Amino acid sequence: MACCSSSSWVLKPRTSAWSPCRRPPSAAGCRRSLIVAASTSKFANENREYVIVGGGNAAGYAARTFVEHGMADGRLCIVSKEAVAPYERPALTKGYLFPLDKKPARLPGFHTCVGSGGDKQNSEWYTEHGIEVLYEDPVVALDIENQTLTTLTGKILKYGSLIISTGCTTIRLPENIGGFLPGVHYIRDVADADSLVSSLVKAKKVVVIGGGYIGMEVAAAAAGWNLDTTVIFPEEHIMPRLFTPSIAQRYEKLYQENGMKFIKGVLVDKLAAGPDGRVASVSLRDGSIIEADTVIVGIGAKPVVSPFEDIGLNKNVGGIQVDSLFRTTVPGIFAIGDVAAFPLKIYNRMARVEHVDHARKSAQHCVKTLLTANTQPYDYLPFFYSRVFEYEGSSRKVWWQFYGDNVGDAIEIGNFDPKVAAFWLNSDDRVKGVFLESGSPEEFAILPTLAKSQPVVDRAKLQSASSVEEALEIVKSSL
Ligand SMILES: Cc1cc2nc3c(=O)[nH]c(=O)nc-3n(C[C@H](O)[C@H](O)[C@H](O)COP(=O)(O)OP(=O)(O)OC[C@H]3O[C@@H](n4cnc5c(N)ncnc54)[C@H](O)[C@@H]3O)c2cc1C
Repeated sequence: MACCSSSSWVLKPRTSAWSPCRRPPSAAGCRRSLIVAASTSKFANENREYVIVGGGNAAGYAARTFVEHGMADGRLCIVSKEAVAPYERPALTKGYLFPLDKKPARLPGFHTCVGSGGDKQNSEWYTEHGIEVLYEDPVVALDIENQTLTTLTGKILKYGSLIISTGCTTIRLPENIGGFLPGVHYIRDVADADSLVSSLVKAKKVVVIGGGYIGMEVAAAAAGWNLDTTVIFPEEHIMPRLFTPSIAQRYEKLYQENGMKFIKGVLVDKLAAGPDGRVASVSLRDGSIIEADTVIVGIGAKPVVSPFEDIGLNKNVGGIQVDSLFRTTVPGIFAIGDVAAFPLKIYNRMARVEHVDHARKSAQHCVKTLLTANTQPYDYLPFFYSRVFEYEGSSRKVWWQFYGDNVGDAIEIGNFDPKVAAFWLNSDDRVKGVFLESGSPEEFAILPTLAKSQPVVDRAKLQSASSVEEALEIVKSSL
């Protein structure tokens, strides 16, 4: 896929007639004058210079970057669909689902930006930093001409610059095959996770539909609750988009040792309710029926582009099209995080990345662009990770990281006791992607350098490495 050209996109942030504030910041008097103006205005937001739509992972990191630049106080408004301040969403299928007696994570413990060692930004943090947050009131309309947004409750909000960080929404099974039955769960936000926990408390038989990220993390959690759990997916092995069959096999074995059953290569036909109206079974296309009182569906997500379609979408990867500075085709409007389709410079293609590392970095890069003279293009190295079986008393913790692109041939080294590594080499023997399970902090730390530098390695030597440590040394010495 060709990388889009950003040359036709010109940054012209609109400075709005209503705002008495101009860059650089930041005078207390300036904030006061905005508030006075707001009290007589038809707009429901006091802070109008910068508006972020979406109160998720990226929004939390964007807010922190505004604060770091002294540009949040009295200027920044966040419009959120959720009832709570931004949090580190990955926790929902990890610490949040620990058994109740094993210290599960709960808010305010994982508000952004604790995932990267920053402040725990609870709702008071936003107030203290002069950031206006409108909760539980999603944006339903955008008026580009007048630079206004309308919320579900009918509020009209004004913006000078707008950042869209609406993330993704979970793909659901259709209602007519039982996808909306009580006891059928999807997991995207804290409310979903609470609902799932309330089912797990009384669950006996759990079915997880989907063998990707969400499915495997939820399945590991269900194992911690000692529940009879079956994972069903249409592919030949778990994590098919990233794992090789051989890597997948190692993890599948570990899951099976933890009591998990797998049904592979089959599609779900429908979910049926019992006499109480709750889900009671899952029927498969091959005719088999699995009993279940709790079903968790993890079959993917899609970017939330509504009501922003007019800004310009990317037809190939989905999401809102942006350039390497997160500028959309409309001056003054930016998109970040899961919803942004951006040029992935390192591989010269457009991409949308649904991972927290990109949510954080895109937010920081975008706000820096907006507030400073930054013109450095975003140069992202794809990074995925997972951590499961981490609850107290677990016999084997899992922690893997992957950097780069999983293209070419994978060379796997190590016996999974506890380590395993894989190196994806292209036809020129150049390292394109690296995967490591249970590495030391130093070993994990070198992975981005290896994936970014893409050294040419001695393929035969790497293949004959007798340990993960030796393999990493071989690749490091090729830098
Ligand atoms: C359960 C789960 C586990 C995950 N685990 C991992 C992991 O282990 N590793 C990893 O790298 N990534 C993981 N991810 C992905 C990661 O969480 C996302 O990439 C990240 O949250 C994206 O940040 P975002 O701000 O773009 O979107 P989100 O964090 O999803 O935030 C978007 C916010 O916008 C709100 N919104 C949507 N529409 C509107 C509207 N019209 N008006 C106002 N608000 C709106 C949403 O309600 C939401 O609060 C996980 C995701 C989930 C759901």
